[in-house]
Amino acid sequence: MGEFDLIRRYFMRPAMDLANGVEVGVGDDCAVLVPTPGARWLVSSDMLVEGRHFLSTVDPARLGHKALAVNLSDLAACGATPRGFTLALALPRVDEAWLAGFSRGLLALADAHRCPLIGGDTTQGPLNICITVFGEAPAGAALLRSGARVGDAIWVSGRLGDARLALEVFRGTLALDAGGFEAARAAMESPTPRLSLGQALRGIATAAIDVSDGLLGDLGHILAASGVGARLDVDALPRSALLAAQPAALQRECLLAGGDDYELVFTAPAAARLPDVGVELTRIGVIELEPGLRVVDAQGAAVAHGLRSFDHFKA
Ligand code: ADP
Ligand code: MG
Repeated sequence: MGEFDLIRRYFMRPAMDLANGVEVGVGDDCAVLVPTPGARWLVSSDMLVEGRHFLSTVDPARLGHKALAVNLSDLAACGATPRGFTLALALPRVDEAWLAGFSRGLLALADAHRCPLIGGDTTQGPLNICITVFGEAPAGAALLRSGARVGDAIWVSGRLGDARLALEVFRGTLALDAGGFEAARAAMESPTPRLSLGQALRGIATAAIDVSDGLLGDLGHILAASGVGARLDVDALPRSALLAAQPAALQRECLLAGGDDYELVFTAPAAARLPDVGVELTRIGVIELEPGLRVVDAQGAAVAHGLRSFDHFKA
């Protein structure tokens, strides 16, 4: 199968399947999108490299889902509505079973969020997946990292830490029973981008970010961009029953520095009424004037942790 047959078979959809506002999708030199009057474009890219972001053994449908999910999570963090995405793909060889699974997982999530695949590039090389998402938000409505104010409450969606548990099992440092491993693995391989929450937080949240590298570092980005500090209650952090059954030190590591959670962390005035979009929201701390992030327990005592978030260029 040649490059163009591959694109046509696995990545091209009938024009009628494209969401409103895509005039030209896959197949020409450029895609043509119609901007919504008054809206701003929000654009983000994320690359997934085999051996770095995923294991070669991962189910291809889950990999397709995750490749788009981590990108949609960035749109969610900014309160954007998805409009489309491009896919730049390097493949070592044409493996039709892999391509069928990968495109199925990818396009199922795309359809669920009316976010059509509008173009891309396909080349031979070590397996590498780079997606760029295009979204929109009304002018001035995008949620940024820079808006947190002293006295704002800090909230997180869903639960943190399960993806890290799965990573510990793959590393051989933790054993879970079959059911626990499957649950943790699903958290790692099939994250849910919190798009409806992000959009519902427009005009309410003062700052937001998605947790991709670990809560400490990602919340730290909000603090740095906003020029504020915070107090974070580690005992308040929402966790699954599976994680709650692990030793306390491991729980804290997974919650504070786990990464790959793709939950939203956001700040909002303490009296703000938060939207109910069917996603659990937990208040985990408060923005303070004093710079730095102070981790405390339920009694308010300082917690020494020595943890930091993931960084590709620091061991
Ligand atoms: P060009 O050589 O003009 O860059 P290509 O031959 O690379 O065009 O791609 C042909 C068409 O297929 C373009 O519309 C491009 O956006 C699309 N395309 C290529 N690879 C992919 C892919 N992996 N997913 C979706 N669309 C793709
Ligand atoms: Mg090209």
